[in-house]
Amino acid sequence: MDERGATLWPAGGDLDSWFVPVPVRRGLWLICEPGHVQSYLVEGRDRAILIDTGTGIAPIAPLVRRLTTKPIEVVLTHNHFDHIGGNADFDRIAIHPAGVAGLRAGRPAESLRGYIAGARGMLARGARLRALDAEGFNMLHPEQIVRPFPPDFDPERYAIAPSEAIAMLEDGQVLDLGARALEVIYTPGHSPDGICLLDRAGRILFTADTVYAGPLYAQTPGADLDAYLASLRRLEPLIDSVDLLLPAHNRVPLDPPIICEMIAGFEALLAGRAPIEVSEADSLGRRTRAAHFGRFSVLLPA
Ligand SMILES: [Zn+2]
Ligand SMILES: [Zn+2]
Repeated sequence: MDERGATLWPAGGDLDSWFVPVPVRRGLWLICEPGHVQSYLVEGRDRAILIDTGTGIAPIAPLVRRLTTKPIEVVLTHNHFDHIGGNADFDRIAIHPAGVAGLRAGRPAESLRGYIAGARGMLARGARLRALDAEGFNMLHPEQIVRPFPPDFDPERYAIAPSEAIAMLEDGQVLDLGARALEVIYTPGHSPDGICLLDRAGRILFTADTVYAGPLYAQTPGADLDAYLASLRRLEPLIDSVDLLLPAHNRVPLDPPIICEMIAGFEALLAGRAPIEVSEADSLGRRTRAAHFGRFSVLLPA
């Protein structure tokens, strides 16, 4: 397997399974919930780290325990519901201190109804995309095909149970997995507890919800545009030190220079130089405005 390049193996063809695990490199899996979120499993010599536990629409724990026999510790990039849904199946969870209260609160079903409605709409649009692809493009990878809810999932009762972290993550902390390490980079802005994780030797940056292509969420409670820009500026010096950005949403992998594009976009936005338009509802059904910049946009409260 290519130890340096952006190798993403096409995954198996089971289009009914909620998760699509994709080997990225030896000991590194992208775990896709197509159209929703991406978690990552990073295996070292002594232990494995699961970066986020997904939406909880299906349990991620049985899958990751098939992928690795090493003890698994969960490292959360932040406490938004779509990154913590599988927490209940793990004992060892770490998060930035600013995310502890959000974990303890869980998420009641009422707060997630808008997400379920949005997911149904995405499934219908995804079916049209898949039909078009089958007509002749044949370009979609399995991890790009939106899946129906699992048969044993009850959308009316979808909620996230409260969970507890046993360890706190701080900026600069090094998580040693044995022959592999991840460095914590505190990147608030999208959320007050946001972190990115750097595999310096592997030249990979896990960018979570701070850097991805598509609509960036700065409209959520706790989002802070100035902090977001400051975090992007902290990531900028890493551009020459990493080959891949592995984000938690949408296109994967991303090229590191997108960080420069995002810095320019946030600078224009904060300087009042970016047109702001009424936009579509976000994934929870909240009304938003947006500033558009090529391959990403920044969502703002309506
Ligand atoms: Zn988020
Ligand atoms: Zn997210």
